[in-house]
Amino acid sequence: MKDLRNAPKVLLHDHLDGGLRPRTVVELAEETGYEGLPTADVDELGRWFRAAADSGSLVSYLETFAHTCGVMQTEAALARVAAECVEDLADDGVVYAEVRYAPELFVERGLSLDAVIRAVQEGFTEGERRAEANGKRIRTGTLLCAMRQHARALEIAELAVRYRDAGVVGFDIAGPEAGFPPTRNLDAFEYMRVNNAHFTIHAGEAFGLASIWEAIQHCGAERLGHGVRIIDDIKTSSDGEVELGRLASYVRDRRIPLELCPSSNVQTGAAPSIADHPIGLLAKLRFRVTVNTDNRLMSGCSMSSEFAALAEAFGFGWKEVEWFTINAMKSAFIDFDQRLDLINNVIKPWYADLR
Ligand SMILES: [Zn+2]
Repeated sequence: MKDLRNAPKVLLHDHLDGGLRPRTVVELAEETGYEGLPTADVDELGRWFRAAADSGSLVSYLETFAHTCGVMQTEAALARVAAECVEDLADDGVVYAEVRYAPELFVERGLSLDAVIRAVQEGFTEGERRAEANGKRIRTGTLLCAMRQHARALEIAELAVRYRDAGVVGFDIAGPEAGFPPTRNLDAFEYMRVNNAHFTIHAGEAFGLASIWEAIQHCGAERLGHGVRIIDDIKTSSDGEVELGRLASYVRDRRIPLELCPSSNVQTGAAPSIADHPIGLLAKLRFRVTVNTDNRLMSGCSMSSEFAALAEAFGFGWKEVEWFTINAMKSAFIDFDQRLDLINNVIKPWYADLR
């Protein structure tokens, strides 16, 4: 575990409002006068978040985000959460992270979308500075999400492009998949494409292949947020013969990155257990698989703990950890030369030294 924490890791799918420290939730609730928390005891609250997310009830799962978003409605709170996010990731050995959030969830107390974005960017910069002072190097890129059930996707896409030189590297849509297919937001994806800007789409998490197909073929998603249901297009016969359907073949042939989040999938019921998670087969078939945390607070996980759990379930060793890490770095939304720099000068040398 100590080696895993030291190993350079790359994270592409992490939600800002899903990664707060329990202590910060309690302190921000007090500072901002948020009164909805189930308890003000830090340890108890940490346990409550995991249990509520674990309960299998969508209502209690969503309640966890009502609390984190509830305490993130001021510029100071947003900046603090963003800075601590980067500190925590750097502390866990993450060298490059794309952290996402939906600006429209933080305007309850009158902040403008621009003010939200500026506060978060300020926090990320501060987090990078603190990490460096602590002897760690981390680079952060921001993904702005639009919520599928709201109708502001184009507006958020425009912000993602407007802030592209200020640390925003891409766009995403999040929220309920069923009933809100990605094609509802075609105008936003079209806007991103004509501006040569990057986006991923949450698709194929709880919902099936249709959502993945729309995200890729109609919307032009470069990556799939989760995408784990691609497994439904892969048949394994009783003698172990594996057959890929047309969509699964396309995803693999085009090297479309899958932002897999094993612990989160187990919590929301998208996979029965880590050992039964499709990541084992998808990695064996050499899809462009990446390992991610999704919501570190709700799942009580980190990049290191995800890798430790996968190593135990599938017997993955350092070779696989390096492979997942390079897959993720190749799939990042920053410029090619910067990705190459991190691969050749940070990631590969560390794993080579280990051998
Ligand atoms: Zn997610």
